[in-house]
Amino acid sequence: MTASAPITQDVMTLPRKEPEGGKINLVGLTRERMRELLIEHGTPEKQAKMRVGQIWQWIYQWGKRDFADMTNLAKAYRAQLAETFEIRIPEVVSKQVSTDGTRKYLVRINGGHEVEVVYIPEDDRGTLCISSQVGCTLTCSFCHTGTQKLVRNLTPAEIVGQVMMARDDLEEWPVPGAPKEETRLLSNIVLMGMGEPLYNFDNVRDAMKIAMDPEGISLSRRRITLSTSGVVPEIARTAEEIGCLLAISFHATTNETRDVLVPINKRWNIDELLQALADYPKASNSERITFEYVMLDGVNDTDEDAHRLIDHIKRYNIPAKINLIPFNEWPGAPYKRSSNNRIHAFANIIYQAGYASPIRKTRGEDIMAACGQLKSATERARKSRKQIEAEAGMK
Ligand code: SAH
Ligand code: SF4
Repeated sequence: MTASAPITQDVMTLPRKEPEGGKINLVGLTRERMRELLIEHGTPEKQAKMRVGQIWQWIYQWGKRDFADMTNLAKAYRAQLAETFEIRIPEVVSKQVSTDGTRKYLVRINGGHEVEVVYIPEDDRGTLCISSQVGCTLTCSFCHTGTQKLVRNLTPAEIVGQVMMARDDLEEWPVPGAPKEETRLLSNIVLMGMGEPLYNFDNVRDAMKIAMDPEGISLSRRRITLSTSGVVPEIARTAEEIGCLLAISFHATTNETRDVLVPINKRWNIDELLQALADYPKASNSERITFEYVMLDGVNDTDEDAHRLIDHIKRYNIPAKINLIPFNEWPGAPYKRSSNNRIHAFANIIYQAGYASPIRKTRGEDIMAACGQLKSATERARKSRKQIEAEAGMK
């Protein structure tokens, strides 16, 4: 592996505490950190562990935001907590609902930045696509997020807060005492929104730990999928420290083409990536690695590409399924979507070789909620608003 500086620029992480004078947000803290803070602010040390458990359940299991609702805590203690702490998640700025039921939310985080979150209902599940960064430092040439300047990493509160926001909107918080629901509206999480999750590893890990915590959001690790463009050194850590399923933005079968489509390939090439996947400790037939492959007309969609893709996966003996993604066009995009016939021919070669090759259904197209289109509409709106203001000023 070549060891120079990683391909990241201008990544800022906000401190987890709000500035002086503000209250401390309890959302997104690890149990240990919450315990330390409770003790620091007057909770007797002997009680602290139990209090963390109680507060944790109120926040993540029952969706409460007000200490006054935490009825198994003494009234005076609830008031004491409310003086120092708060329970705060990102604020919903707008919500759009597609004709196919897909919901796209624009949420505002600290500093006035905005990220998008997409909820995709299906027959047997409901998937929430969440963001890990504002923008992305990487510059994949087919991805609209990649054309935006990264502003910053999201905090654990902002990451898990997206899930809590969606549960609010879906009105899915259970009522205390009621039996656990078997099927949930929000049953799966995919880290496929804006940003490269493995360049914000610690915050993504802390947030997903809460999502998986049986006393927290309580989703199984098998219902969480992290998608990465291929940050090789962090792939093994993903298995060890998060344990979720893995998806890889593969997208090309030669280094020459992948260098252009997914430039992180210049740092960790196809063989280095495949080796990391072959070593992924969680990979098995029941927990296959998803290879995401965007279908770009005349760029990566030939029969030879399909055969080479299979050869790569076989050479490294990786338990895999291949998810073909019809390219979602965005204004000014330098590529076109492959034809349906081409996509089906490509899928068929993969299927004949013995691998699942689903073609990803494009959801929420009418509200620009599809993969790789996020944030575009608001960016455009903002730019034009600015333009309008500039013009108005000139007059
Ligand atoms: N940064 C991570 C996760 C976010 S992107 C990653 O790259 O994996 C989620 C998926 O959408 C990736 O597979 C990405 O390559 C794909 N994608 C990006 N832009 C797209 C577009 N315009 N059309 C289709 N898929 C796109
Ligand atoms: Fe970033 Fe993923 Fe888009 Fe590449 S595809 S620019 S890694 S969000």
